[in-house]
Amino acid sequence: MELAYDYPLWRPPSEANSMIFQVTLGCSFNKCSFCDMYRTKEYSERPWDEIKAEIDLMAKIYPDTARIFLADGDALNLSKDRLVQILQYLYQKFAGIERISCYAMPKNLLQKTDDELKDLRTAGLHMFYVGIESGNDVVLKKVTKGATGKSIIQACARARKHGYVLSCMIILGLGGKKYSKEHIADTARVLSEVAPDYVGALTLHLDESLNEEFMTKYGEPFEFIEDVEVLDELERLVQDLRPKTPVVFRANHASNVYSIKGTLPEDRGKILSLVKSLKSHPEMLKPKALRRF
Ligand code: SF4
Repeated sequence: MELAYDYPLWRPPSEANSMIFQVTLGCSFNKCSFCDMYRTKEYSERPWDEIKAEIDLMAKIYPDTARIFLADGDALNLSKDRLVQILQYLYQKFAGIERISCYAMPKNLLQKTDDELKDLRTAGLHMFYVGIESGNDVVLKKVTKGATGKSIIQACARARKHGYVLSCMIILGLGGKKYSKEHIADTARVLSEVAPDYVGALTLHLDESLNEEFMTKYGEPFEFIEDVEVLDELERLVQDLRPKTPVVFRANHASNVYSIKGTLPEDRGKILSLVKSLKSHPEMLKPKALRRF
């Protein structure tokens, strides 16, 4: 049984088996030019009595739930007090919780004080999925991400300081042909500095409905990169990603040209030789019709 969700409902692939509670609807920012996840929704915060009733219902049906994902796009935008109320009630109703996570924008993290982030961690929030998309300020501005390389590093450092697990998503091809080098160099630099536990690399695909807005906001002609250039970006990213602590690296999203995963630095050589061999054998790449963002 599932709740009467307000669709569309999104969650990270690694939360496929998690119980999802929509504590907010939509995205409080909703302006990134490449993203249509919540374009049909106005951001709102769900009333406590509705959230509580859903927790009560699901606790009766699935009392052994271990993983919970708080949706929609940026549950961390809720006030610290409301989040603590939700977290405390979840732990009261589900005895075996192992992990509670949510999406978070750099802005959400920076808007919380250190004490608030500490209180949320103490209340049992474990993990943030942060869409950083690029580390390059020109690209970030052109896709209206509302963040800079510096603000991403600051935001993620604050989460790390309080012991949160971090999973960061980036988008290959987001700089187009013109900014490809800078996009990857700065993304590798920012990710190396942040040293998240997980990095997910997606590949840019634009829904028809976003095309015009994306191109207008970009402010200059945008040329999509070809598959072989996506592999070049992947190669440079894996080569340049030098975090202080090991990172689980995945480029196995539905949007990617091939499913690649490993741990860096341990699997760097293996990933690089796989990418090299894919460049010589493009027939091994996933057919374009099977890729989606
Ligand atoms: S990418 Fe994230 S922050 Fe940007 S509009 Fe989409 S959900 Fe909101």
